[in-house]
Amino acid sequence: MPELIIKGGTVVTPQGTAETDIGIDSERISALAPGLSGHREIDATGLIVLPGVIDAHTHMELPVRGSRSSDDFLSGTIAAACGGVTTIADFSVGTPPDTTLPEEIEARLETATKAVVDYTLHGEVIGWQPDRETELVEAINLGVHTFKFYMTYSRSGRMSDDGTLFHAFAALARNGGRAMVHAENDAIINALTDAFESQGKLDIDSLPQSRPPLCEAEAIARAALIAQHTGVCLRIAHVSSQLGLDAAQTARAAGGELIAETCPQYLLLDEQVYARPDGHLYAATPPLRTQTDCQALWKGLSTGAIDMVATDHCPFTRDQKRWAGSFLKLPYGLPGVETLLPLLLSDGVLQRRISLEQLVQLVSAGPAKALGIYPRKGAIAVGSDADLVFIDLAEEWTITADALHMRTDFNPYEGRRIVGRPVMTLSRGRVVFDGGRFCGEEGWGRFISQTV
Ligand code: MN
Repeated sequence: MPELIIKGGTVVTPQGTAETDIGIDSERISALAPGLSGHREIDATGLIVLPGVIDAHTHMELPVRGSRSSDDFLSGTIAAACGGVTTIADFSVGTPPDTTLPEEIEARLETATKAVVDYTLHGEVIGWQPDRETELVEAINLGVHTFKFYMTYSRSGRMSDDGTLFHAFAALARNGGRAMVHAENDAIINALTDAFESQGKLDIDSLPQSRPPLCEAEAIARAALIAQHTGVCLRIAHVSSQLGLDAAQTARAAGGELIAETCPQYLLLDEQVYARPDGHLYAATPPLRTQTDCQALWKGLSTGAIDMVATDHCPFTRDQKRWAGSFLKLPYGLPGVETLLPLLLSDGVLQRRISLEQLVQLVSAGPAKALGIYPRKGAIAVGSDADLVFIDLAEEWTITADALHMRTDFNPYEGRRIVGRPVMTLSRGRVVFDGGRFCGEEGWGRFISQTV
């Protein structure tokens, strides 16, 4: 008889929906069948039960411009648990030449130990050279298989040029790693930014014009071509535009192994926010686009052109984001880990843009596969970790920064009505969120090693 039974819920996976009970033993799912009984039972009658959400793109306590993103691994994973997210994938922090990639990963793993849900890491690659291939191998041996490269930010020294991408992608292909890019054309951004600077056009509403969709699409096409010819699987972070998605689709049709990610902000917000008095609070890269782009991305979710939705969670407070006369002086990033699931439920599933099964694919099974942690994560199957979220599809509520757990006084969706809400979250069989309250424990989260 299992230790714990989840009774009477409607269980949704990408393969379908079924009324079944779930048995849990030693942190894992041990049985799936109707009519189970166990030592303890949780009644999920009337609720939807999904595999725990995986936010595959977060930046907790990220050093930015002498400050840090305002959630640390404790507050950020509490917010995650309260939003039905049971695994996050964050990044090591590249600080060469003082440190090596394995050292950066070890340091970040130490920082992450306070997490209340499970986590995995990507390697952030800055200043890499072809003579550093052993660092990639050592990082892979530490359980980090996906490595992120910036195709822009030359001015802050973070960019990898095409020659570096070529050698690094080839090295990853040789050693069983995967590549991920922040895809924007650096030269065009710099040229446009220089022109705006000389014209004094540095108001926040110039931000989108300084890095238009052309930049994204060109960089996606270029990275995908390099990836295809070096034989590495390439994940495109935060696809934000129709043009960018078209470039990804073209690359995929040409035979490249490509994973396209987008974020809720590119589905639900557009550049009109930059005209608002508080528009600077929405500063992010890539910038918010147009309604046409939003609609193209929603379509991409429903057709499978987009494989996963992650948040790029990188919150700042209003004070950290206070306007200093130029969009070049702002920290870029938005909060999102706690609202990922509610927004996609309310605006995706209940607006009939995607099905519940597609939702599970986009925020759980898809990211788990992209990260190499499936089926331990992202599945409701015997042997998988008992990471579960229960949804009440009837509950209506309003997003406010005050009522959420993310450590910021700004929410991009402030005042938005939401239908459907996570009401309970289990992390490896333990209830960590129930009745609107976090009830987990600092340090409960474990590092989840990636495999290819
Ligand atoms: Mn990011």
